[in-house]
Amino acid sequence: RHGIRTFATSALRMADAASPHLIAVSKAQGVARGLTEAIGNTPLIRLNKISDETGCEVLGKAEFMNPGGSVKDRAALFVVKDAEERGLLQAGGTVVEGTAGNTGIGLAHVCRSRGYKLVIYMPDTQSQGKIDLLRLLGAEVYPVPAVAFDNPQNYNHQAKRHAERLDNAVWTNQFDNIANRRAHIETTGPEIWHQTAGTVDAFTCATGTGGTLAGVTRYLKTVSDGRVKCFLADPPGSVLHSYFSSGGKLIDRSGSSITEGIGQGRITDNLKQDVDLIDGSMTISDEKTIEMVYRCLDEEGLYLGASSTLNVVAAKEVAEKLGKGHTVVTVLCDGAYRYADRLFSRKWLEQKKLLSAIPKRLEKYIVL
Ligand code: PMP
Repeated sequence: RHGIRTFATSALRMADAASPHLIAVSKAQGVARGLTEAIGNTPLIRLNKISDETGCEVLGKAEFMNPGGSVKDRAALFVVKDAEERGLLQAGGTVVEGTAGNTGIGLAHVCRSRGYKLVIYMPDTQSQGKIDLLRLLGAEVYPVPAVAFDNPQNYNHQAKRHAERLDNAVWTNQFDNIANRRAHIETTGPEIWHQTAGTVDAFTCATGTGGTLAGVTRYLKTVSDGRVKCFLADPPGSVLHSYFSSGGKLIDRSGSSITEGIGQGRITDNLKQDVDLIDGSMTISDEKTIEMVYRCLDEEGLYLGASSTLNVVAAKEVAEKLGKGHTVVTVLCDGAYRYADRLFSRKWLEQKKLLSAIPKRLEKYIVL
């Protein structure tokens, strides 16, 4: 994407002098050879209002610009490439995963573009819209009863067993497959470092599988010799914050959150190796998260899902803690498209007791 933009500017400059042939040749250098090459290299967007308010550079990695619309495209590509490299997946093979959301969509795109079949298990509490979307992207979808992880009928275990029953099939196991974390060590982390020319002072994000937080943290800590501070941001109901604040105990906390795709009850294998590198953690309330959905839309023109705006609130809090002049980076995981019928619905906001969290001047966006 950046390649194309750089070319476009230089092409305009060259336009008078260069022949059409030369321009065509240069343009080919900006072509992604297939969908998977279009994953990553997302822009880092300065959140202007929040940066001005805090006196810091608060920057969001625009992961909603990936082909499948989320940060999970990176993990999807890496778990599939890893299975190929390890000889677990040959031409025409099948990928099986347990997922209710973005990972499935990312995998569907990657599998279609590489000629694999995709089987998805998900809890039957998920919306018909998600099931329909995965099916039209070519996946075979099995909604199964929503039971806890320790029950053998849980969707993750069913996905694993399905893969075991087939030849040339792999269960990609996003939570504990560290190829997920590697996606962020090899791509997201280096991109953030280069895009900020090494000036990044802090990074913060929430975790689902932990791949993004662990991978980016590992890379930034290594390249900066430990200088970059890295923070976990947790939604209510997740137990990870308690792990950091209690010095290593996973205290079961009740509570729930409107955010989707984040919050965790255990230290996944993706988090395990990097958990000691994390400098601190915070819980962000749903009130702050939903207010930021509306603020980002109004002030920045950014139409973001709730995990993204939880990250923005966390980045703002980190910026305030560090003080003026620092550069803080976070992740804009996906857009609001899949959540619009809730996030911008008066009835839903009332049900969740979040209507009062929307400032009066932003109520004009409650249109559903
Ligand atoms: N935000 C959204 C919307 C997601 O779907 C996910 C992944 N479940 C995340 C954030 C968290 O990313 P990770 O799995 O890398 O921790």
